[in-house]
Amino acid sequence: MRWENLALESEHSRADAALFGADAVTTRTFDTPEFRGITFHEIRARSIINRVPGASRMPFEWTVNPYRGCSHACVYCFARKTHSYLDLDTGLGFDSQIVVKVNAPELLRRQLGSRRWLGEHIAMGTNVDCYQRAEGRYRLMPGIIGALRDHANPFSILTKGTLILRDLELLKQAAAVTDVGISVSVGFTDAELWRTVEPGTPAPERRLEVVRTLGEHGIGCGVLMAPVIPFLSDSPAQLRATVRAIAAAGATSVTPLVLHLRPGAREWFMAWLERHHSYLVRRYERLYADGAYAPKWYQRRITRQVHELAEEYGIGPTRAGMPRRIREPEAAEQLTEPQMTEPVQLSLI
Ligand code: SF4
Repeated sequence: MRWENLALESEHSRADAALFGADAVTTRTFDTPEFRGITFHEIRARSIINRVPGASRMPFEWTVNPYRGCSHACVYCFARKTHSYLDLDTGLGFDSQIVVKVNAPELLRRQLGSRRWLGEHIAMGTNVDCYQRAEGRYRLMPGIIGALRDHANPFSILTKGTLILRDLELLKQAAAVTDVGISVSVGFTDAELWRTVEPGTPAPERRLEVVRTLGEHGIGCGVLMAPVIPFLSDSPAQLRATVRAIAAAGATSVTPLVLHLRPGAREWFMAWLERHHSYLVRRYERLYADGAYAPKWYQRRITRQVHELAEEYGIGPTRAGMPRRIREPEAAEQLTEPQMTEPVQLSLI
């Protein structure tokens, strides 16, 4: 690891160089089944509120990320690339070499109290999951949420981690004094696909339980339906099954996002595709021939389909946490095997 010699070849590495110092790294492993094979690099960060680069497509300006790397190990994770800025491997290394900013809560409290801080919205879970398994041990989020609550600072959290329910009381306290937005990421409900492509995450139905529980406690929760994986989770029946489950959980919104494959994630994902669905490799090369994103026509089609389904199932803010009567799926909707996209669309790829 080149904590002390971070080359200044990118904005990210400049930020990393400012955050970490070689003398601040303590490396630990824990011999419990939960953490077997995972190495934790504890650091004392120099700054915890990060500004998102101006050119970013993200709809937020400030983020807090107490961890780097993520044991949820989603094959497609776009944050894999950021591990290379630390001279860490973007494949297995990203899943198992976790950087922990152990002073994140105290540092955040200090920065929130600074006269220069204007109380803007802070987004969390935007790089890696702040409720990944490490959080069960390091318990950084209670201190972080507590600091945000005490400063009535608006914030949002995006997660796949059911551990967020541990902090339910704190979230309720924060929501009483400021704007709190919670989103859970559930791209599909196919159990077979989940086991191979998101191997370290809680199952989709457990994540939807989080949505339900938050709603029951008055905290509306949206679902980021991400990623929709071309040819593996995008059939009409699969989209319907997923939106239907999201609606049944009482989500306040559903936002679809098609898989994107930036460098770092792309190589790892394509190797996975070759192992598990080799018949799709050529089609992916064609679909993503122009870069990291699927063609606009494809993205638009998925968005339209999901929005129509959301409308059909009545997903919306006024229904947060309310049980929904969802009609039983018809036989054609109960498909769990990956379905091929309609032939008419294949010809367009
Ligand atoms: S949970 Fe999020 S941050 Fe973690 S590996 Fe999956 S996509 Fe990446």
